[in-house]
Amino acid sequence: MTERADVLVVGGGIIGSGIAWALAERGVRGVVVLDLDLAGVYASSELNAGGVRATWWQPVNIAACKATLDFFAANAGEFGFRAAGYLWLYDDRALFATALEKLRLQNEHGLGVERLGPAEVAARFPVLDRALDELVGATFSPRDGLVNPNAVRAFYRRRAEALGVRFLNRHYVTGAATELSVGAAGPLRRVAWVDAVEVVPGKPADEDGGVREILTRHFVARERALRELRVETGVLVNALGAWSPILSAKLGVRDVTEPVRRQISLVDVHASDLAPGVRLAELGMIVDPSGLYFHPEGPHVLAGYSIPDEPPGFDFRYDGDVFFEREIWPRLAHRASSFERCGHVRGWAGLYAVTPDRSGIAGAVGGFANLYEAHSFTGRGVMQSYAVARSMAALIATGRYEAVDLAPLGRERFDDPARRVPEALHI
Ligand SMILES: Cc1cc2nc3c(=O)[nH]c(=O)nc-3n(C[C@H](O)[C@H](O)[C@H](O)COP(=O)(O)OP(=O)(O)OC[C@H]3O[C@@H](n4cnc5c(N)ncnc54)[C@H](O)[C@@H]3O)c2cc1C
Repeated sequence: MTERADVLVVGGGIIGSGIAWALAERGVRGVVVLDLDLAGVYASSELNAGGVRATWWQPVNIAACKATLDFFAANAGEFGFRAAGYLWLYDDRALFATALEKLRLQNEHGLGVERLGPAEVAARFPVLDRALDELVGATFSPRDGLVNPNAVRAFYRRRAEALGVRFLNRHYVTGAATELSVGAAGPLRRVAWVDAVEVVPGKPADEDGGVREILTRHFVARERALRELRVETGVLVNALGAWSPILSAKLGVRDVTEPVRRQISLVDVHASDLAPGVRLAELGMIVDPSGLYFHPEGPHVLAGYSIPDEPPGFDFRYDGDVFFEREIWPRLAHRASSFERCGHVRGWAGLYAVTPDRSGIAGAVGGFANLYEAHSFTGRGVMQSYAVARSMAALIATGRYEAVDLAPLGRERFDDPARRVPEALHI
């Protein structure tokens, strides 16, 4: 079966859904979004920590996050956005000195970031009552905070659908064809069509419905394929997150992104175990020098830690009690007596799409007349989603960025070390 799209967005995570909505809002018609993962069970957009901040070290990342945060703040009720702040603790003098230099840049964007000494940290955050003598200082950014990323993705998708965007769920892209076109800019390749298979929905006995297997092995077993679909398209947007290199390779484009597993635990703390004056629900995100980060999550605490040297791969295994007991609990209890006794509720693993400089990739793909991409936002995709969506839609519709100039995130930077966009505060 063959269908036709004016713009085909592959990947219906927070980035793809946002771009589809932004295109439709600009009046672009014939937008189709294609995604395998109907419920978003393995999409990073559903598995992240919900932290949103504009306090980065690179102007393009600050600008994209700031514009997205402003959008979240303007629709706070819709997205469960809370400007509860990010508290970032430092135990390394050199790193803290650089953080303070960047603080000036961040505050030029109106972020109101404060510098705190260890005594101020203790006074303002009574939950942190241990090992504060190890700290050299902290920064607190009051406008950053927490959001419900699932609500954001659902909002983008709902709005897009209301404007006529078609979402083809349970469709796995298997291939793409290009042809040569000669225009004013000389010979360019153009994407002519994308091939996909519709996948049989999950059966109760098969809890992942085959989706996990397909997303980790990139192979659709014959008995899972429902129908084959070819989508001829005017424009193709690669928004496949950690999977984007697979499509790029099919188009003859080399990507530098690697999928890397990140794990999160939900922690239970009994009210009677909290130190005096501690009200967890009021906290925003706290980032410990050990790499641990945590924030309140409903009745629990969400805590994450990125294991250094985690090998790249499409790995969704959660290490369970071992991860909690080895990585999460000791770090929590080291800094806060309230966590001396705490329980492991459950946890999960999702994928970061990691680039060599830890910044995302966005723009038109060189050498192609109609290929665009927005992916590999490491741990930053939610907090950049609105700005990336708006700017990419402008680029696709008009050939120019509007609002936030994403040009520094173009893939060409990986050919020139001087153009890299390195981010350091990466958790
Ligand atoms: C543990 C963890 C914590 C994080 N914490 C934060 C945070 O606090 N704040 C923040 O801003 N970001 C955070 N992130 C990062 C953020 O979640 C991602 O950057 C963002 O969700 C990426 O969105 P996306 O739309 O690019 O990709 P995804 O949401 O992964 O969407 C990609 C989609 O592509 C689909 N797909 C893949 N291959 C195919 C194919 N061949 N055919 C069809 N469909 C396909 C998948 O089904 C998926 O739905 C975190 C990520 C993780 C894993």
